[in-house]
Formats: sequence, structure tokens, C-alpha cells
Amino acid sequence: TVARLQPFASTIFAEMTELAVRHGAVNLGQGFPDSDGPAGMLEVARQAIADGFNQYPPGRGVPALRQAIAADRARRYGTHYDPGSQVLVTVGATEAIAATVLGLVEPGDDVVLIEPYYDSYAAAIALAGANRRTARLVPDGDGFTLDVDSLRAAITPKTRLLLLNSPHNPTGTVLSEADLTAIADLVIEHDLYVMSDEAYEHLTFDGHRHISLSTLPGMFERTVVISSAAKTFSVTGWKIGWACAPAPLLDAVLTAKQFLTFVGGGPFQPAIAHALNHEQQWVSALRDTLSEKRLRLSAALADAGFGVKRSDGTYFVCADVTPLGATDAYDFCRELPARLGVAAVPVSVFADHQADWNHLVRFTFCKKEETIAEGIRRLRAGH
Ligand code: PMP
Ligand code: GLN
Repeated sequence: TVARLQPFASTIFAEMTELAVRHGAVNLGQGFPDSDGPAGMLEVARQAIADGFNQYPPGRGVPALRQAIAADRARRYGTHYDPGSQVLVTVGATEAIAATVLGLVEPGDDVVLIEPYYDSYAAAIALAGANRRTARLVPDGDGFTLDVDSLRAAITPKTRLLLLNSPHNPTGTVLSEADLTAIADLVIEHDLYVMSDEAYEHLTFDGHRHISLSTLPGMFERTVVISSAAKTFSVTGWKIGWACAPAPLLDAVLTAKQFLTFVGGGPFQPAIAHALNHEQQWVSALRDTLSEKRLRLSAALADAGFGVKRSDGTYFVCADVTPLGATDAYDFCRELPARLGVAAVPVSVFADHQADWNHLVRFTFCKKEETIAEGIRRLRAGH
């Protein structure tokens, strides 16, 4: 392995899921649902395969899906992307992230990201031969907020791109309009591009609303919006994601994307088009159920002695292990599957300044009622 990729030999999700399988643990670590998405959507995919829709789809994605993505964003955010030139279907949000960084960043440039950050961001920056500089979230009551000064300090004359994620994995933070406005001001002042990862755009709770940075004044032309069907329609294995941006930015993403995978997921693309057009009620129901599971898991974690953080979005909740007498959340997660039969993920792996996050563990609540209930039973039994 080349030096710049050596720190990325294994992902935390592979490590903790392997431990979960080995110990028969309830996997509240890796974020993937254990039940299926809307039946109508699954049927469209089956039909597409039966109808012989099994060869390379068009380079930018199946037109019906690009139209559905553009219509969805127009409906929910009032932003207008031309399906012909401003929407690109990718192999999950993961490929969109990598292609955005590879397409917009020169070797030696600086890329700013906000700790804790989704793990693939750092790897994408390394693939591009660029340097990462981090800003950070800071505690705010029982949740988190952006430390705007840390963002200002992270920007250098060599910074080209900011990687942003809200609703935020792993903390469940939904950035406020004030935080987004502060970000937009700095982005304009320093003439940056932004990748806005909105994979959890539909999953916000308690009246919190996702605001896309692309809707703020001056931001549309600087922002590559990324999202994915994985979380919205419970199809993490289909790997259908997308990027939306003005043509000059999207062309850069496409240039990289076409040599990463060329195209992907032919028969799944019409199924996701169907889901975006017709399954919004299913998504609302998913959100409501997730919100309840979030409250139940959070209460159980508090009962078991964790210091539980507030989750306003995504399907993750973070909990402090210091009240339990633990000093290292990574060690705690390595032992948890054997000790209690539950798997979780340490937040420190999503950070460069690991000591700042060493006390937090991430749990997911995107599992079936009975899976959550069994996880809770085991956490309580261990208490
Ligand atoms: N961004 C974030 C914030 C994520 O949590 C994930 C994991 N779903 C991804 C990107 C990757 O999405 P996908 O599975 O569509 O590649
Ligand atoms: N996005 C999911 C998570 O954060 C799973 C990611 C993965 O397995 N690569 O848990």
C-alpha cells in the first residue's frame, strides 16, 4: 500500500461488524437497517431486471432518476438543477464524495473538514494527494454546534474545498441556520467550493429541519450537493447516490467519476426514481418510527449510566462513557460485543484530534423494533 493510504487499511465499520458477528452481538455499530424499503420500489427493481434492463446505464444516470432527483430538490428546497447537465448519479454517496474531491482539488491543496467527520472524507483527500485541515464541533448543552472560530482558523491560502455534513454523522447534529450562514460567509470571503453531504436530509426529528447550504445566498454556484438513496429508502446495498451542482462543478465530478466506476446500479436506478416520486409517505413514516426508536434507545442508554447526547437527525445517537468509569471509548467498543453482546462505534475514529472525542460512543437506532429491544435488554442487563 502506498504511504498516503496506509492509515486507511481497515474501516471501523468492518472492524466492529466483524466483532459483532464473531460474538453474536446486536449490531448497533454499523449504520444499516435490518428491514427493507418500500415494497413498490423493490418491485420496480425486480421488474427492471426481468425486463432486461441489465446493461450499462447512461453515463450521468438514467434520465428518469435524474429528473426525479431534480424534482425532489425543487419541491423540498426550491433549488433548480437541470437534469441534463446538473445532476449526476453515482455509486453511493461514497463515490460522489471521492469524485468531488478528486475532481476539484489539486495535489498539495488544503481541504477543510469538520471534526468529527465521516471516515471516507479523509481517505478521499489522501487519494487526491491533498492535505486535510480540521475545524470542529463543540458541545452546546446536550448537543453540539460549530466552532466558527476553528473553521476560520482552518482556512489557509491553499484551501479550495470545504467538506460539510448535516444532518451529521456521527453526532446527530443538524446545523442551525446561524451556523450555515457563518459557513457561507467564510466560504464566500475565501472563495471556496463546498461539498454538502446531505445523506441524512430526510431524517430530522423534533421539528428540526434540514437546510441545504446550497439554498443560502451565493452558495448555489459554489456547492456540490451530495445525497443517497441508502438511508432514505433503506437500500444501503444498492449503492445509488448522486451529486447536484452547476455544470462547471458537476463536469469536474463527472470527469473523475467516469474513471472510478463509469456507471453503476442499472436496474436500481428506475426503482429509486419511483421511490423519490411516489414514496414520500413511506419516508415520513420511517422518520417517525426512527424518532421513537431514538428516544427509546437514548432513555435505555441513560438508564445504563451513559451520558447521552441529543440526536436531532441521522439515525445515530452518541453517548459519553466516562460516567461508566471508562477512559477510552475505542477500548470500550472493542470489549462491548464480548462483554454485553452489543456492538457500537467509537467517535474518536472520525477525528484527527482523537483525545477530544475519546469519551464518546456512537449507537445506531436504524434497526427493527425487536433488534433495538434486544440491544436495550442487553445494555440494561449489563448495568
Ligand atoms: N456520507 C455520510 C455522512 C454517511 O453516513 C454515509 C454512509 N451511509 C455516506 C456518506 C455513504 O453513503 P453511501 O452508502 O450512499 O455510499
Ligand atoms: N454510513 C454508515 C455508518 O456510518 C455505514 C458506512 C459503512 O459501512 N461504510 O455507519
